[in-house]
Amino acid sequence: MARFDLQGSPVSPGVGIGRAWIPVEVGLHRIPERKLVSETSEVAIDRLMAAHKRAIEDLQRIQSATTQELGIQDAAIYGAQIAVLQDPDAHRNLERLVHEEKLQPESAVQALLDKFEGLFKNLEGGDRKNWVADLRDPWLAVIRELGSAEEDRVFESDGSGIVLIAEELTPSLVTRHHRHPLAGIICSRGGRFSHGAVLARSFGIPTVTGIEGVHAKAESEETCLVYGDEGRAVLGATSKQEKRALGLAEERRQVQNALAALAIEPGRTEDGAPISIMVNIESPNDLRMFDPGISAGVGLFRTEFAYMERPAFPTVEEQAKIYESVLESFEEKPVVFRTLDIGGDKQLRYFGHPKENNPAMGWRGLRLSLEWQDLFLMQLSALVQARKHGDVRILLPMITTVEELRRSKELLSQVVGKAEPPPMGVMVEVPAAAMALRDIAQEADFVSVGTNDLAQYLFAVDRDNPWVADLYQPYHPAHLRVLRYIARTCNALHKPVSVCGEMAGQLPGALFLAGAGFGTLSIAPPFVAEVKAVLQRVSADSLRQLANRAAACHTSSDALSLLQVEADRLWAEVVESTSESRS
Ligand code: PEP
Ligand code: MG
Repeated sequence: MARFDLQGSPVSPGVGIGRAWIPVEVGLHRIPERKLVSETSEVAIDRLMAAHKRAIEDLQRIQSATTQELGIQDAAIYGAQIAVLQDPDAHRNLERLVHEEKLQPESAVQALLDKFEGLFKNLEGGDRKNWVADLRDPWLAVIRELGSAEEDRVFESDGSGIVLIAEELTPSLVTRHHRHPLAGIICSRGGRFSHGAVLARSFGIPTVTGIEGVHAKAESEETCLVYGDEGRAVLGATSKQEKRALGLAEERRQVQNALAALAIEPGRTEDGAPISIMVNIESPNDLRMFDPGISAGVGLFRTEFAYMERPAFPTVEEQAKIYESVLESFEEKPVVFRTLDIGGDKQLRYFGHPKENNPAMGWRGLRLSLEWQDLFLMQLSALVQARKHGDVRILLPMITTVEELRRSKELLSQVVGKAEPPPMGVMVEVPAAAMALRDIAQEADFVSVGTNDLAQYLFAVDRDNPWVADLYQPYHPAHLRVLRYIARTCNALHKPVSVCGEMAGQLPGALFLAGAGFGTLSIAPPFVAEVKAVLQRVSADSLRQLANRAAACHTSSDALSLLQVEADRLWAEVVESTSESRS
């Protein structure tokens, strides 16, 4: 029997098999008490001392730089922090915790911090909180050092087959590790439509969330299984369970290989009506994971990740270089660059985001760009500069009013001067923009619907909040009707319209959207082949009828099951059709 067989929420499909790795997320939570498993206490102490040495060297570096720049007085704090780390009593304690209590080094440091906290709790008066912080901060640096050394070690060994286990599925967690071949992700928290989830799907990493305390339950290096379609996670799997999972993963891979040839063909329905399938990407690195030939171009390049991965705002040249490399990979095909969409759960380390009570409804997306126009003008300049390398289209996130579009167009014309500006489109994510679409679309060059946010705002449900996740219903007829209205409005105005939200990459969603009149779907690369294969098995007229029936339902579950039944039926046909090439 496995150590734990747990049910959570499905976030990204596929079967993942690998060794557990629980990165140390310093400051996010207490380090759980973990005992040594395969490591001896001598090796563990060596690892701890090496991290301790690096933390001290780091502090010494900062101390001497501060002395030079600001003087000895300002640098004194670092001397005090070094002294905290050199306390012989603390060292004796740590050695005992590792040797006698067999705690892993990270847990031993946490136990030491708990001891400090306990001591100060009983003291009267004074600035107790600050005293604890003075002792805690340097030791947290040691934990951080332990974590990054462990990260290097984990990915140095063959790298494949690692299941990442963490408390929260944040965008930075996924992007921090996405260059490594992760086999799966299991988290306690993280909504299905959160940005972390969007990224996990985009990288094709089987992911499950909603398993309370999983980071504390898991043991480093144990075999874990991630069933992304069912939302199931197995910790400490038996060899029989592992074998079965390997068989399922292999079967899946074979179907995908069999569909690979189809992915290169343009998307169309059974009777030949074209449905353009584009891809959503976040970074030029994504291009290592799929062949751009499978898509009609990029329907959504989320430029914020180029900002999130750096220590400071990228310069115009740095941005242009990133944009150009994507354009070159897609040759003549269009690449839709969405301008910076930060705020909410997408934060820049180097930018002091204001504290807002309701950040999703606050200062994010285009609102921020229009206020920080210097930043916006830099991005527009980089995009205009990159135009020499391909077909640049600019997409504005979080449009609420037509005036925002007008202001953005003015700024773009300042950048291009007398030259022809690149096409500028709007994202429909705010219900007001959907209802005023006729006015907005007339002045835009194209429209792209962000269903992830549109559903969030339509249902007044935070897409990241597990407490209200049940009410986040992209398949609710209210949302389906708004989507159908958007498609009809744009088609009547002959305005190109697409959907780049997650629904477009789900089979029931793709069926509905194609039937509702969206001629372009932009989806995460791993789903391109599946969506094309399913659309190819159904006529445009059947799709229209199906979409109308779904929109006429009264509840989300009715509409979803109607679409799901059809998606399952078509998918079964697709799998059946590949069986010949697999046998
Ligand atoms: C959306 O909101 O649907 C969208 C595509 O943008 P993001 O998920 O990045 O907010
Ligand atoms: Mg959005």
